[in-house]
Amino acid sequence: MMHTDTTQTFSHPQQTLTHEHAWMLESAHNTSDGMVLYVRCGAGCGARRIDRQGLIETPPSAVSKVVGG
Ligand SMILES: [Zn+2]
Repeated sequence: MMHTDTTQTFSHPQQTLTHEHAWMLESAHNTSDGMVLYVRCGAGCGARRIDRQGLIETPPSAVSKVVGG
């Protein structure tokens, strides 16, 4: 028996800079919503991103204990 593998090979002609961006913090601003982080790819591809480290992402702190049910 013959196994014919139908491998679908999509040729990518010159993919545009596919890499994992090495985000580096450029500047940070404190706003009322939290921290706004301006990050830039350190690999030199020119990609930029604005992250927001808001109040949502703050680690949960046990202010009050749950007592009973
Ligand atoms: Zn990049």
